[in-house]
Amino acid sequence: MPDRKQATSLRIGFIGLGQMGGPMALNLIKGGHRLRVFDLSADAVGRLAQAGAHAASSVADCAADADILITMLPNGTVVKDVLLGEHGALSALNGGACVIDMSTIHPFDSDAIAEAVAAKGFRFVDAPVGRTSDHAVRGELLILAGADEKTAAELAPVFGCMGTETVVTGAAGRGIRVKIVNNFMSIALNALSAEAAVLCEAIGLPFDTALAVMRGTPAGNGHFTTTWPGRVLKGDLSPTFMIDLAHKDLGIALDMANQAAMPMPMGAAAREIYSGARAAGRGRQDWTAILEHVRALAARGG
Ligand code: NAD
Repeated sequence: MPDRKQATSLRIGFIGLGQMGGPMALNLIKGGHRLRVFDLSADAVGRLAQAGAHAASSVADCAADADILITMLPNGTVVKDVLLGEHGALSALNGGACVIDMSTIHPFDSDAIAEAVAAKGFRFVDAPVGRTSDHAVRGELLILAGADEKTAAELAPVFGCMGTETVVTGAAGRGIRVKIVNNFMSIALNALSAEAAVLCEAIGLPFDTALAVMRGTPAGNGHFTTTWPGRVLKGDLSPTFMIDLAHKDLGIALDMANQAAMPMPMGAAAREIYSGARAAGRGRQDWTAILEHVRALAARGG
């Protein structure tokens, strides 16, 4: 790991020392910052204290004297309770301090917390993280900062200890929103990928063969950066591959799964989206026109 020791040593309160928060706090210590830490788990606190952190006795004690207070907690209810509850962390925070919530929580909770924190005169940044606890250990997280460039630059010495990349989203609330959209897509793709892998097994096709093909196609690489830029994102729906043909291929895959007695709920839902696009007269448009079809459905729903 590169040496990220900073010239400025900040006083940081860190609440939530689990799979992610534990190594993140450790990397802040390695970066030269002065940490006060708190967690309901005495073991977790003990590990950080051994590494040089001050073991706080409560969330309020953890916030005392902090320039920056970081939360890395399971959900929005806990973050609200820890920050805003009776004897919560904000009750002990110094004026001018900045609160950074790095947990993955509901954006509406994050907005409510941001408002309550601002009402008490403190700054708030939503900065959830991408990647895994292995990356947290190596200080290689992707940080999604719900902040403007100036605030993100101020916080760079902190983010730089925990991650290798910070996406500055430009406004409060956008960090957590982009995190949720990203997770929606990767979590849904995980289920779709599992269906494709099990379809291989069901029809006696070695998975390695499918993998060799899909590494070089939108199946393996996604559509945002492969098929969309050249067509739908330019407003060009002339077909490279028609929705009618995509619908036919999905039907064949579903039929093969059906004959192998394999349920394929993700595939069936996708086929019906293509059926809807055909019903809307898009059969001869490019398959990327699915974006326009889903947009139209959303507008109708609204
Ligand atoms: P975790 O369960 O390992 O850690 C949560 C920690 O919070 C625990 O140590 C728990 O004791 C502590 N805690 C709970 N309530 C508390 C309270 N009232 N006061 C003080 N401490 C309290 O979870 P994690 O994997 O570290 O995830 C933390 C957050 O990061 C979650 O919002 C999660 O969705 C998000 N996240 C996780 C990953 C991952 O790969 N694990 C990746 C990205 C984001």
